[in-house]
Amino acid sequence: MENKNFDVIITGGSYSGLSAGMSLGRSLRNVLIIDNGKPCNRQTPHSHNFVTHDGKTPSEIAQLAKKDVEKYNTVQFYNGTVVKTQKTTEGFEIETSSGEKFNAKRLILASGVKDIMPDIPGFAECWGISVIHCPYCHGYEVKNEVTGILSNGDMAYEFSKLIFNLTKNLTLFTNGKAALTEEQLEKLKQNKIILNEDEIESIQHKNGSIQKIIFKNGKEIPLQALYAKIPFEQNLNVSDDLGCELTEQGFIKVDMMQKTTVPGVFACGDNVTMMRSVANAVAQGNFAGAVVNKELSDEEF
Ligand SMILES: Cc1cc2nc3c(=O)[nH]c(=O)nc-3n(C[C@H](O)[C@H](O)[C@H](O)COP(=O)(O)OP(=O)(O)OC[C@H]3O[C@@H](n4cnc5c(N)ncnc54)[C@H](O)[C@@H]3O)c2cc1C
Repeated sequence: MENKNFDVIITGGSYSGLSAGMSLGRSLRNVLIIDNGKPCNRQTPHSHNFVTHDGKTPSEIAQLAKKDVEKYNTVQFYNGTVVKTQKTTEGFEIETSSGEKFNAKRLILASGVKDIMPDIPGFAECWGISVIHCPYCHGYEVKNEVTGILSNGDMAYEFSKLIFNLTKNLTLFTNGKAALTEEQLEKLKQNKIILNEDEIESIQHKNGSIQKIIFKNGKEIPLQALYAKIPFEQNLNVSDDLGCELTEQGFIKVDMMQKTTVPGVFACGDNVTMMRSVANAVAQGNFAGAVVNKELSDEEF
C-alpha cells in the first residue's frame, strides 16, 4: 500500500469499525481500516436482534456492511493484524504483523474482545450454536426448551431472572459450590429453578448442538441449550501500548463521546461495553466516526 498517512486508522473492520468507516468515508476523510477477519460471533449460524438483518449469518451482515463502505473511495482496507499501536508527535503509528507501519491523526479502536473458553471439553465447539452468551441474541430460538445456565454468584442470579422469562425448564449449574445468598437461593427455589453444584467433566454435543452435560461424579443431564457468562480479554493491548485506561471489568474506558482516556484515541463496540450486540456496535461506530470528524473539522477550520 503506497499511502502510509491517514486522517484516521480504525483497528477492526467488523460491525463497529465498518460503521465508523462509513461516517468518516461520507465525510471525505482518508481512512484505513485494518482487520484480520476474526469477529467474535463467527461460529454462530444466525445473528438475531438487528433490524433489517434479523436471522442472517454474521458474515453476510458484515459483507453487506463492507460493500456499503467500499462505495466511499477515501476508505481503504488492509487485511492483516495490528501488533502495535503507539503515540507519535503528530498522532499515532500502527504496526502490523508483517512489519508495515501506518500513521494517522486519530485512532478508532474497534477491535472487539476475545472470549476465553473454560477448560470444559465440548464447550468451545458449542459456543454460539447451543451455548449462548446472550438471551436477546439467541434466547427466542430456544424458548421453552430444556435449558441450563452455567454461572455462579450474583451474575448467575441476575441471568436466572432473565432466562426464566424465556423458559421455565431451567437448571442453574454452578460447577462447584454455589456462591449465592440464602435469599437468592430461596428465590430460585420459589421459581422452581433447579440448582446443580456438581463439577462438570464435559459437554456432549453433535456438531455444536448440546446433548448433555457429563459430571465428574459420573452423572449426566440432557439439555437443549446452555447460557454461559465467560471471561474475555481485549484483542489489542491498548493499556500498555497507548495508556488507555480500562474499567474494572476490563473494557476500554470511554466517555459519552466514545473518547478513551488518551486524547485522539476513540473506541467503540464490544471492547467498551457489556451490551454486546451488532446493533450497539453499529450505533457506537457511527457515533465515534462523527465525533472524530467533528474534532478534525474543528482543528482544520
Ligand atoms: C457467539 C456469539 C454470538 C453472537 N450473536 C449475536 C447475535 O445473534 N446478535 C447480535 O446482535 N449480537 C450477537 N453477538 C454479539 C456481536 O457479535 C458483537 O456485539 C459484535 O460482533 C461486536 O462488533 P465489534 O465490531 O465491536 O467486534 P467484532 O465483531 O468482534 O469485530 C472485531 C474485529 O476486529 C478484528 N481484530 C481484532 N484484533 C485485531 C488485530 N489485532 N488486528 C486486526 N484486526 C483485529 C477482528 O478480526 C474482528 O473482525 C454475538 C457474540 C458472540 C460471541
